[in-house]
Amino acid sequence: MTRLFSDLVFLLALISSHAYGQNVLITELAKVTDKEWRVTYKSLTPVNSITFAITRDDSRSKRWLISDSQFELIHLSGRDIVTRKDNQLFSEVSFTLTPSYIHLPKYYSPFARFSDGGILVHSARFFACPNLCTGFENAWYFELTVNPDERIVLNGQQHQGQVCWWDKNDGTKIYVGNNAITEHPSFYSVIDQGLDEKLQGLLLKFFPKMMAHLSQKFSPLATKPMLFASFERIDDGRKGRQGGVLPNQVFMHWYGKEQRIKNRYEVLWFYAHEAAHLYQGEHKQFSGDQSLAWIHEGHADMLAYELLATLLPETSSYLNKRRIQAQQRCQAAISMDPLATLAEQGRYDVLYDCGFSFYWFIKQKSGNDQLAYVFWSNFVSNLQSANKLDIDVFLLTAKPFLNERDYLALTEKVAN
Ligand SMILES: [Zn+2]
Repeated sequence: MTRLFSDLVFLLALISSHAYGQNVLITELAKVTDKEWRVTYKSLTPVNSITFAITRDDSRSKRWLISDSQFELIHLSGRDIVTRKDNQLFSEVSFTLTPSYIHLPKYYSPFARFSDGGILVHSARFFACPNLCTGFENAWYFELTVNPDERIVLNGQQHQGQVCWWDKNDGTKIYVGNNAITEHPSFYSVIDQGLDEKLQGLLLKFFPKMMAHLSQKFSPLATKPMLFASFERIDDGRKGRQGGVLPNQVFMHWYGKEQRIKNRYEVLWFYAHEAAHLYQGEHKQFSGDQSLAWIHEGHADMLAYELLATLLPETSSYLNKRRIQAQQRCQAAISMDPLATLAEQGRYDVLYDCGFSFYWFIKQKSGNDQLAYVFWSNFVSNLQSANKLDIDVFLLTAKPFLNERDYLALTEKVAN
């Protein structure tokens, strides 16, 4: 998009947002060098402060360097707020950023590097409101500028050097770099050639099979999703992997000093879990309530179990072991604390284990071997009627599959 056209789009959108009484910040992201990015917030009307919409920890106050020393970023009561030290109004503020992977609790890293210098940016980290956020904002305006010869991939479209867009919900992943985009029958991919060959091989062999199976059980995706897979070499002792799904996007990022595959079944479980999220639909984004994450994470694990059991029957002893461990860990945790408390404590591993165990319980007690698929279809329609995601919708969906005694037992587990 040309600059003139993008400005015009923005002005038109701004006029309409003003019509609803909203002031919207212009968020300008820019790649300065491979090791330095910049974000600038501009407001058409002067503001007292800028508040970030999503703050998971205090990492912004440590990592974001304010370009002008007259400003300060304060981390207060779980919020990040930018003001001028002299409390004067302002209409622009900039930060310098290091574009490397960071672990945010139950949230996606703002940057995930590819080994060739490419990068995947997560827009939601940059969502910010003029003055304070009310919690109802859901329109964010972005401009991204990179080197003129660099490719930007946004919402399945390729751009060169610069792009602007309106963002919403849980944000978007934007790829910047010169990696090739490959078209497959059921998805597009940008795969880091520095990623271990075995990881790439398993991904390209099994991910399409998993998608084909899920398309049969649910329905095919309306749009071919984009798959990003990357490896970032980090020498500071951190290592791990993060996967996630946003509408029409699935991403998998490995980081650490080296890549070592301990167990190929465990890698396939990870792939299956992410493939499963693609078919759960956007309703999984409804809730910002992390205490309910066990509903969709547990279901993605349940589907991972079913996918591996169907596509790779030789995984059965691995699957049984994994299931029993999840049940034991969940039981031990919920005998001490309720699920909501465990979520507050950041015990997300337990939420996965418990969610998976609850779906397994319903499957066993109902004797329905298609439970993972049927349950979710019913759950989605109940969710649409209820128009909110809560434990009651989960229990309402479970009820027809269980006798009264088992239903009560599930209620106790879920709402203990
Ligand atoms: Zn997940």
